[in-house]
Amino acid sequence: MDLERVPELWFPDGNVVLQAEDHVFKVFQGILAARSPIFKDMFSFPQPQERAPEDEFEGCPLVPMMGDSAHEVACFLQAIFDSEFFPAYPARTEFDIIEGCLRMSHKYQVDYIRQRALVHLSSGFPTELALLDRRRYNSSELAAVERTSWLPPPNPEYGSIPVPVLFRAISLAREVEALWILPLAFYHLSSHLTHPERLAHYLTFRDNEEATFSERDWVAFLHGHGAFSHIAIPLLSCVSNYRVDPRCGCRAPHHCESVRLKALGKFHDLADKRLAQPLHIFRIAADGPLKKVCASCFEHLQLALAECREQLWNKLPRKYGIGKWEDLRKIKKEALGL
Ligand SMILES: [Zn+2]
Repeated sequence: MDLERVPELWFPDGNVVLQAEDHVFKVFQGILAARSPIFKDMFSFPQPQERAPEDEFEGCPLVPMMGDSAHEVACFLQAIFDSEFFPAYPARTEFDIIEGCLRMSHKYQVDYIRQRALVHLSSGFPTELALLDRRRYNSSELAAVERTSWLPPPNPEYGSIPVPVLFRAISLAREVEALWILPLAFYHLSSHLTHPERLAHYLTFRDNEEATFSERDWVAFLHGHGAFSHIAIPLLSCVSNYRVDPRCGCRAPHHCESVRLKALGKFHDLADKRLAQPLHIFRIAADGPLKKVCASCFEHLQLALAECREQLWNKLPRKYGIGKWEDLRKIKKEALGL
């Protein structure tokens, strides 16, 4: 096999040559051993007096990295040997780089890169509804630390992660135990695959490179996908079931009732069009169809909707069989060193 040198990772005074697929990297044993206990162990085996020709490359020991992709190894080694290549969040980066750095740093136990990659990956999958709402409704006012660091600009920040990336993110999250990203990743995937034809496409072509899911993830996803279609119903019920309570201070119950019924018609139309984001089908805002109810009803309706959305959000992980937010946030905090 012809081996191709990777120029960015070919140090003339390096003392070890790593090989992934048909690419070779000439780097430094001492630095790798200082960063990774796996490399430390690997290099501490006593070297034979004489190496077989296939075990060396231009006088350096040749170390095959079995099962690793050349692209991922290149990202990982660049993160180690070039301090500008993979800066910490909120600096911008790319999903490809995060994926390579995270998978390899997990395997070779380079904790600081693993943690840095997890922070970047997690920025695309908030575990708080409030942040998701800010991205949906106030995207122009977001601070750098509220953004996803790896979505290309222009970055609408909401529901814009492409299907192939979601598949890869979910598989990666399972592999490195970043389970807290799964509920929202599955939710986004559901919103891309609401149309039965789209769903069938991914289910039928299971060898498709884009959709490398385990059996377990398909089962989890489909389980939650069924529930996804019903999320809109309790939200609409907040408005349809609202009853003016005489104690709440409404002075124009008939007027409020008629405004509410008209608004409900509009929300139903929206629900038809925007089922792709059921948690954000409508909101009760000063410029929305409910603006003309009295101040008291407005406030009560807003509260009822907020409570209902919070409940739906809290149930989201369980719908996909991934436990509770409480536990997921705990493991996230530990893994991200927060
Ligand atoms: Zn009222």
